[in-house]
Amino acid sequence: MTPAAPRAAVAAAAATIGQALAAAAASLKAAGVAEPRLDARLLLAHCLGVDAGRLLGWPERPLPADAAGDYAGLIAARAARRPLARVIGRREFWGLSFAVTDAVLDPRPDSECLVEAALAAADRARPLTVFDFGTGSGCLLIALLSELPLAEGVGIDCAPAALAVARTNAERLGVGRRARFVASDWGESVGGMCDLALSNPPYIRRGEIESLAPEVARFDPRLALDGGSDGLTAYRRLAPDLAACLRPGGVALVEIGDDPAGPADIFAAVGLALAGIRDDLAGRPRCLVLNRAA
Ligand code: GLN
Repeated sequence: MTPAAPRAAVAAAAATIGQALAAAAASLKAAGVAEPRLDARLLLAHCLGVDAGRLLGWPERPLPADAAGDYAGLIAARAARRPLARVIGRREFWGLSFAVTDAVLDPRPDSECLVEAALAAADRARPLTVFDFGTGSGCLLIALLSELPLAEGVGIDCAPAALAVARTNAERLGVGRRARFVASDWGESVGGMCDLALSNPPYIRRGEIESLAPEVARFDPRLALDGGSDGLTAYRRLAPDLAACLRPGGVALVEIGDDPAGPADIFAAVGLALAGIRDDLAGRPRCLVLNRAA
């Protein structure tokens, strides 16, 4: 199917909400989208500025022509496998709504287990300093700051365009005054020490990126995915910088892709001991809990 086809099909069939939804879902299904009906509904809700649940009760309502045109454009983008969050420009993470652009990784629900692990490790009565290496949209740092009113944080990223997104998110989500964002290649240009560190580094083996879903392989920034030939390059780079800035007694929460042993060995070699492993929502090991001895 050519990219223009879903747009034409949806626009032509869009006399009522029910017809628009059916045509859109058919186009998305033909394009191989995993949940075509759900995405068709969420995009129409976005287009009309209403709650997605209400649309199902309105199949006979006419769809205004301008909304039909906008909707056809959104469906064409999704049929080209642009992820839903990138089509609407927002992603919910930790119950907060984050702006997402092409400069940042689309935040994953799996990464919420890093926030849970950080909260389990945090002493809420103390004013903690949190560093987030490779902050991207800022989702990890901002979620954590939203839970810890005494904490301050630094979001670190080598991509200035990502830092701009993170900064906007921090301000909109009410933690802007407690968050700083620093352009740095890992810890290179970051001063000071932290009590808690977070990182979701790139960890996909380079040779495997192309086999991922098109939503990931084509749309997430390559820099945010590519972990080098064995998937461990970023951990090797991160480990000494983490060891240098984590206070004695501090805890680091680091996301992993599959086998915990490779990353855990790299951190152990710089004095960061494995204190635990947290599973993600699917029950896969996803977060290393690392301690710096007090
Ligand atoms: N920290 C961000 C996230 O977890 C970005 C991570 C990355 O770009 N690898 O979504």
